[in-house]
Amino acid sequence: MKYLVLLAVLVIAYMVWRNARIERRGPPPGPRGPAPGADPQEMIACPVCGLHLPRADAVTDAKGLAYCSQEHRLLAGD
Ligand SMILES: [Zn+2]
Repeated sequence: MKYLVLLAVLVIAYMVWRNARIERRGPPPGPRGPAPGADPQEMIACPVCGLHLPRADAVTDAKGLAYCSQEHRLLAGD
């Protein structure tokens, strides 16, 4: 009888341990930024000041050159 109680305790302890392990895993980890290798935002360097910025934020001139701002586009334009 003593061993039956011990077995029950061990089974309960095992079930609790297993549940805790499943809960600790929790929800799947969300995306940690862009995956390695993936480059969703192309970065460009301003030819005037060398500032790096996403191409989407850059000011592009008629030749297709991208600048950090309208001022630098005009500065390089002449
Ligand atoms: Zn610039």
